[in-house]
Amino acid sequence: MNRVLIIGAGGVGRVVAHKCAQLPETFHSIMLASRTKAKCDQIAEELPRAIETARVDADNVSELAALMRSYKPDLVINVALPYQDLTIMDACLEVGVHYLDTANYEPKEVAKFEYSWQWAYQDKFEKAGLMALLGSGFDPGVTNVFTAYLARHQFDELEEIEIVDVNGGDHGKPFATNFNPEINIREVTASCRHWESGRFIETPPMSASKAFTCPEGVGTYTIYRLYHEELESLIKHIPSLKKAQFWMSFSENYLKHLEVLQNVGMTSIEPVDYKGTKIIPLQFLKAVLPEPASLGPDTKGETCIGVIGRGRKEGKSREAYIYNICSHEAAYEETNSQGVSYTTGVPAMVGAKMMIEGKWSGKGVYNMEQFDPDPFLDDLARYGLPWKLTISD
Ligand code: NDP
Repeated sequence: MNRVLIIGAGGVGRVVAHKCAQLPETFHSIMLASRTKAKCDQIAEELPRAIETARVDADNVSELAALMRSYKPDLVINVALPYQDLTIMDACLEVGVHYLDTANYEPKEVAKFEYSWQWAYQDKFEKAGLMALLGSGFDPGVTNVFTAYLARHQFDELEEIEIVDVNGGDHGKPFATNFNPEINIREVTASCRHWESGRFIETPPMSASKAFTCPEGVGTYTIYRLYHEELESLIKHIPSLKKAQFWMSFSENYLKHLEVLQNVGMTSIEPVDYKGTKIIPLQFLKAVLPEPASLGPDTKGETCIGVIGRGRKEGKSREAYIYNICSHEAAYEETNSQGVSYTTGVPAMVGAKMMIEGKWSGKGVYNMEQFDPDPFLDDLARYGLPWKLTISD
């Protein structure tokens, strides 16, 4: 299982290509395919060894299947957009290829974040003898593995988690998003849900906030509660959880621009008629905003993403915090991409490595917390994202 097809040549695709290319003993042969072949070729030129590139429309199952038949990958790493998850899974099933992604499927026409569509592929993958690993980025991804690690090693009963995603980076632009703007804005403008006492509680978007001080001098930031897709799988697979919340930092500047854009209707996904052409305001907005991949050279500062766990250990209450700090500048120096792409691309490579080496294996559709966290966390630290744990009993 050592021929890998990476689909998507954006910020994350660039990091995955770099990281896989750095490990020839694991990833013997690599193809990078995306909608725009020139972007794949540009990334290929940066790499320490030769890879193949191709153009593919990942909305089109037969095009994807034809590419897979000719390249014969063992594994597809999907780092295109969440809209393409199901078509790529369909093509993997048709040709018989294992699958990995970093974000749950979203239909273009409704901003709905849930695993139901992909979990519905369980039987098909199982019958085909194939494995699909869902959400192998940082959040979801590493946050799921951090939670599994806390549940397995640090608690007898893990009762509560707070996932905290701080981006202390500054890209110097008045307004830009660190990953695909359309996906980012759909996520932050959606209603918030968190898990409490056996059910999801819905609250208005961005209505809960608090100050959070990151370790190691990264700084103090205002974090806002959001719904995030890993909550759905974590409460299913770690049933001891009584409360689960997700928080993300936003600058005042980001929120000011977002409020105005929302007020004028630019974040809507409802089509509007413009001079006889139907356009979706959010897609138009994406076209005028900086590409996340272009932010790399100017982004300074650090990300700090981790999980705070609370529960009981040997009869006593305990709090533990497991986190990674990633420097945007160091990420750029290594891969020509800023930290948000880096913190997503490294775990995508590590998840793929787990599958290729058979350390994580199975037939069906899996979330990250279903596997042994230890080999993943060893490799995560080894390949660019070291993590730390603090405990207060
Ligand atoms: P970008 O927008 O930078 O890149 C997306 C890439 O996919 C582009 O190269 C784009 O092509 C390509 N693409 C889009 N549609 C198609 C299509 N129909 N066929 C083929 N290629 C297509 O996004 P990012 O790199 O920032 O994000 C990639 C993925 O990672 C997303 O799913 C995102 O949600 C996820 N992500 C996950 C995170 C996590 O922690 N789990 C964090 C950040 C991102 P083109 O260049 O031609 O537009």
